[in-house]
Formats: sequence, C-alpha cells, structure tokens
Amino acid sequence: MIESLRAAFSGRLLTDQVDMAPFLIDWRKTWRGTALAVAQPDTVGDVVNVVRWCVDNDYSVVPQGGNTGQSGGSVPEATGRNILLSLTRLNRIRNVDPVNNSITVDAGCILQTVQDAAAAVDRYFPLSLGAQGSCTIGGNLATNAGGTAVLRYGNARDLCLGLEVVTAQGDIWDGLKGLRKDNSGYDLRDLFIGSEGTLGVITGAVLKLFPRPVAKIVALVAVSSPGDAMRLFDLARDQYGTALTAFELISDIGIGLVLKHFQAMRQPLATPSPWYLLVEFSDHQSDEAGGAAMQAFLERGLAAGLLQDAIVAGSLAQSAALWALRENVSEAQGTEGKAIKHDIAVPISEISAFLDKGLAAVKLVYPEVRPVIFGHLGDGNLHYNFSSAEGADQSAFIGEQGNINRIVHDLVRAHGGTISAEHGLGVLRRDEAREYRSNVEQRLMQAIKTALDPQGIMNPGKLLG
Ligand code: FAD
Repeated sequence: MIESLRAAFSGRLLTDQVDMAPFLIDWRKTWRGTALAVAQPDTVGDVVNVVRWCVDNDYSVVPQGGNTGQSGGSVPEATGRNILLSLTRLNRIRNVDPVNNSITVDAGCILQTVQDAAAAVDRYFPLSLGAQGSCTIGGNLATNAGGTAVLRYGNARDLCLGLEVVTAQGDIWDGLKGLRKDNSGYDLRDLFIGSEGTLGVITGAVLKLFPRPVAKIVALVAVSSPGDAMRLFDLARDQYGTALTAFELISDIGIGLVLKHFQAMRQPLATPSPWYLLVEFSDHQSDEAGGAAMQAFLERGLAAGLLQDAIVAGSLAQSAALWALRENVSEAQGTEGKAIKHDIAVPISEISAFLDKGLAAVKLVYPEVRPVIFGHLGDGNLHYNFSSAEGADQSAFIGEQGNINRIVHDLVRAHGGTISAEHGLGVLRRDEAREYRSNVEQRLMQAIKTALDPQGIMNPGKLLG
C-alpha cells in the first residue's frame, strides 16, 4: 500500500520504525502515537499528493512542524491509520518586501530563520518564544502562538496577513495576500489560524514586518505581591505606551528552580522577594533614550513603594542572562520532577484577584504543593503550574491532576478567562474545553469542522475530539 504513496511523492518518506520514532512522540514525552509513514514534502505539490492519497485510502493526516507544541497536537493517535506530515523540509523564504513590510515564507521555516531574514533587510519580525530555534511558522500559526512580545505586537494571528493552505480534499487555497485591509467575505485565514491542523495543512504564509527597534532595555524587578506588579504594569503602560514590549512575572520558586538546575546562572538581585518581573522597553531612537525611560520608570516605582529592588542589564549578554532566568523556568520545572501545568488567561484587571484566590484555593486542599507561576503578565496569560513537595511521591502527586485542574479552571471561568491562552487544546485540554464552552459554541465549531473536513481526516482526536 505504501508503494502507491511513494509513487505519488517526491519528498522523503520514512517507514522504518527507528527513523519514525522521533516524530511520533511529543516534546514533553507525554504522548506517543503510530503512523504508516512519516512524509516530509519538499513542495506544496507533495503535500497535495499526500492529502489526496489519504482521502483515497481512508488514512488521516497529522501535520507536524517543529514538534515543540505543549498540548500533544502534533503526535498521531495510536490507530496506525495515519500519515505524519512533517513540514520542516518545506522551508524556503519565498519573498521579502520591505516596502510592504511583509515576508512570504514556506510553513516549515523555523521561526528564528524568519526573524533573521527580516533583520537582513533591516526589519523586525517580533514573534519570539523559547522554542524559536525549533518551532516552525506553520506550527506557530496553527497554534496561534503568543510568546514574549504579544503586549506590543500581538500574537501569531495578529502578525499574519495571508495564508496558503492545502485543504482536507487536497486542493490548494492560495490566500497569500499581503493586504492590511480585505473585507471580501468570510475570513478563511482566521479559520485556519489556531485550528491545530484539524482543518487543513498550512503550507505558506505572508507575515507582517516592523521597523527594527534600535535598543532593547531589560530589567529584573523584585516586587512583593501580584497587586504591586499590576500597579507597576499600569505605570509602565500609561507612561511609556508602546515602548513597553514585555512584562513577565516569575515566582521566587520558579527562579529558585532555574538557579538549582542551571548552575551557571546567578541570581542578580541581592534582595530575596516572592515575585519578580522581567520588564523590556524597546526604543526606536537610541540606547540612551531607552535606558532613560527604564530608569525613570524604576524610580517612579520605587517612589510609589511598588518595588523592592531592580537591576537593569548593561549589555546584550546581561539582557540575555536576565531573559534566560525567565525562559528556563519551564525546563527547570521539568528537571525537578513531574509538573501539573496550566496555560490560562484572565482579563488583566482580574489577574491579581485570580492569583490571590487561586493560590489560597489550591493550598487549602494541597498545602504541600509548590506553585511555579510565571508568564506573560502584561497579556493576562500565566503558566500556572505546580510541582510536588520536595521528595514527595510523584505518581501520587500526578494522581491529583484532575482535582487541581478543576480548582484552577473553575476559578479561571469565574474570572472570565480561558483554560488555553497560547498552547492550544491538542489532546491535553480537548475534553475539558468542551465542558467550559457553551452548546452554541460547540455546535458552531463542529459545523466548521464538518464543512471543511467532511471525511474527518485532518488530525483526528485533537481540539474537538
Ligand atoms: P508542532 O508542535 O509541530 O505542532 C503544533 C500543532 O500545530 C499541532 O496540532 C500540529 O498538527 C499543528 N501544525 C503544525 N504545523 C502545521 C501546519 N503547517 N499546518 C497545519 N497544522 C500544523 N508557545 C507559545 O505560544 N508561547 C510561548 O512562549 C512558548 N514557549 C515555548 C517554550 C518552549 C521551550 C517550548 C518547547 C515550547 C513553547 N511554546 C510556546 C509552545 C510551542 O513552541 C508553540 O506552540 C509553537 O507554535 C509550536 O510550533 P511547532 O512548529 O513546533 O508546531
């Protein structure tokens, strides 16, 4: 059977179990699947051939980019009736247009490659996340990735002007328009963004570029409470507007785990504190102007009694070291042991109350668990995670996952939030999401799925189930 696919396919086709193994397990090593073959197309025509072969032979298509997703969406189910479609060889920069401030790329381009291609024409592509050396633009769009610059530039959806998609019938929809205005009907682009490979295969995208900031000024700030952190956020946003590009929260336990598991890293602040902020200002004039704005912000915060201590990076290396404290929390938590993770968002005005109530609610039932809370405070999005008490039985801790999820997610709902802010539903949140969405929403989503993928061949078992 595989020979008929091989005949219709000019890219790389893997069928050996050892070759396929890395594609069939996710980044967190939580979900493992099976596939008849891993197809690595070199052209959009190859993608069409794979999808049509799957339609004709009653197989499913599981698109995969860098396989860095956090929700299990990029790994097939264990039915074996899947073709894993890995897009990383579809990786050409098709066109850069500095006048239109746009770049057109294959979906398999690595995010960092796109950032570099923009920088080569003195432009800036602002999507930025810890996995940027491995994740692909197709995956970023399919998950509507957020990252660390959403506050200023928006998420992947906001950065996309047009898409090219191979539909679930194997047709090519060419929506590669570099337009900032286009009201000519339903927005197909927005349907595919965030659809986690369940509606079609993204093969190309037109992305927005921006003027390159001349300077980025980074500070680590010690604060005593989420309430003070939010008041500092107000101050920064009101006075410095779009110069504020990142406002990230890290709990002391989070920093402690980074220092424990990344021994080359140092705590740069002398004063211990329950919470830290990683604040970044961008400036389009000069380092001096950006530095002066950061200095003025910190002095105002200190005068208002909102911060205890702060350090401003004096070099690119110091900026990177401060960012590393934030970006390595997730990995450090993984090294520490099993983790119960949540990717939640609430309106920014609710963050402080949510944090106070959430911690109290979980601690009431599980006084010994360690909250490892960090994330994009300026977007209202927190990675609201828990580790077990040091030395505690890991499987007993993970056994409580359902209860802890329920406590956290019910509170998220009570505060008008979402249980998946940037990682998508995949398998991880698929069933819970159904409980938290209305019947109307469920019906509309199901109708879209049925309309675009009537045979149900696109990434089955993900997002809707
Ligand atoms: P994959 O993991 O391969 O796939 C993810 C989903 O997209 C799957 O459902 C898959 O089927 C689908 N998909 C992939 N490519 C296509 C395509 N071409 N067409 C259709 N569907 C497709 N995420 C954030 O949002 N913000 C962060 O700050 C962030 N930080 C991270 C830090 C680390 C260290 C790691 C490991 C991950 C982080 N992530 C973050 C999660 C992850 O990097 C993002 O979800 C990323 O967008 C996934 O891209 P990918 O190419 O790896 O996609």
